[in-house]
Amino acid sequence: MLEKPEVRSEHNPFTNAQNQLDEAASYLKLDPAIHQLLRWPLRELHITMPVKMDNGTTRIFHGFRVQYNDACGPCKGGIRFHPDETIDTVRALAAWMTWKTAVMNLPLGGGKGGVICNPKKMSAGELERLSRAYIRQAGSFVGPEKDVPAPDVYTNPQIMAWMADEYSILQGRNVFGIMTGKPVALGGSAGRNDATARGGIFCVREAARVNGIELHGAAAAIQGYGNSGSYAHKLAAEILGMKIVAVSDSKGTVFKPDGFLYEDLMAHKKRTGSVTGFPGAEQISDEALFELDVTVIFPAALEGVINRNNAPHIKAKIIAELANGPATPEADLILRNNGSYVIPDLLCNAGGVTVSYFEMVQNSYVYYWDEEKIHHRLEKKMTAAFHQVHRTAGQHDVHNRMAAYIVAIERVAEAMRLRGWV
Ligand code: NAD
Repeated sequence: MLEKPEVRSEHNPFTNAQNQLDEAASYLKLDPAIHQLLRWPLRELHITMPVKMDNGTTRIFHGFRVQYNDACGPCKGGIRFHPDETIDTVRALAAWMTWKTAVMNLPLGGGKGGVICNPKKMSAGELERLSRAYIRQAGSFVGPEKDVPAPDVYTNPQIMAWMADEYSILQGRNVFGIMTGKPVALGGSAGRNDATARGGIFCVREAARVNGIELHGAAAAIQGYGNSGSYAHKLAAEILGMKIVAVSDSKGTVFKPDGFLYEDLMAHKKRTGSVTGFPGAEQISDEALFELDVTVIFPAALEGVINRNNAPHIKAKIIAELANGPATPEADLILRNNGSYVIPDLLCNAGGVTVSYFEMVQNSYVYYWDEEKIHHRLEKKMTAAFHQVHRTAGQHDVHNRMAAYIVAIERVAEAMRLRGWV
């Protein structure tokens, strides 16, 4: 078998992604050809883009699009605009999208894109020209039936709208289905804004059911009060009747034993730019959030925040991973031994990509569903995926993250076998 040179670095995200696959493959005794094929992206595009800047100069930007695996359907995954973007970050994220769409049983593969740039230092006009340049270079590589990008770190619905417009110009017709996460007026889906948090909340509800945990009136803590974290607050209160007693953002952590009201906390955050300083709340250390006596913790900010140092002190019964990669492999084992139930990121934060898939379906039918229908369909998808992972963990006696990998890899492997790739 022809081997590609290994990517060797302890902190290389792609090495981590390959290690996670290797662990699951060895557990599953995966056919070596399938394993080797799944260790690498099927296709990658590296592009160089000249962009006219506001000061009259032309700057050259570099970008990528990785199609990791499309055995189950068109690739799906965001485009990031970030100064530290690398091909290995994009490869790793594309691999994780492959497992995420497969866990959710969506007829999609995994992809990801990125541009090395600092959008915080660019004007709206420069960002528009960069977005259009990306599609001019990558336009023949992507497509509604090949690879459908979406917003990700530092990209947003407006950038998706410019990209969809540029693609439509290249094609000579409207092709809104080329991107998801678009504004609703341009073929975006209802219910996309809170989809990630809503999907996570449905998982928490099911996790409580299978573990006999009462959620009504129970306390929860949220690390990272951004898009997914703040919607998790709103929906945990609305759908589950929970009380959010601690929240944090990059400026600090606040604690209020009788719970924060969503509307009040959002108003405070809008006014001051942070959750800190909320009247009547106690400022606690960022680490203390994980050690609180709460029923659920929602990590919704950063990677690696639950690790071997703090995992032994975690009392929460359910850890709902809205962030990508919040727990280290050592933490997974400690949490399982201590009886905490982890809902792994591949499953817990997959509500976003699920509603993106609904957006693709609506674009292809040119017929749009109301929010109620989106919520109902998301609930069905999340509940089914949750129970598949939960059952698999029981059958194999493994933790939920390994179970999610098993479900995902078996689905992609079956598609590759049926297509005759291996
Ligand atoms: P966001 O930028 O809206 O929010 C991130 C929040 O984390 C911000 O409030 C920020 O202040 C806070 N934060 C940063 N550093 C912190 C620290 N040290 N301690 C506490 N809080 C800190 O981002 P988001 O879209 O909500 O994404 C959050 C996580 O969820 C990421 O891991 C992302 O990959 C994942 N995720 C998001 C979506 C989605 O649809 N938004 C989908 C899948 C996964």
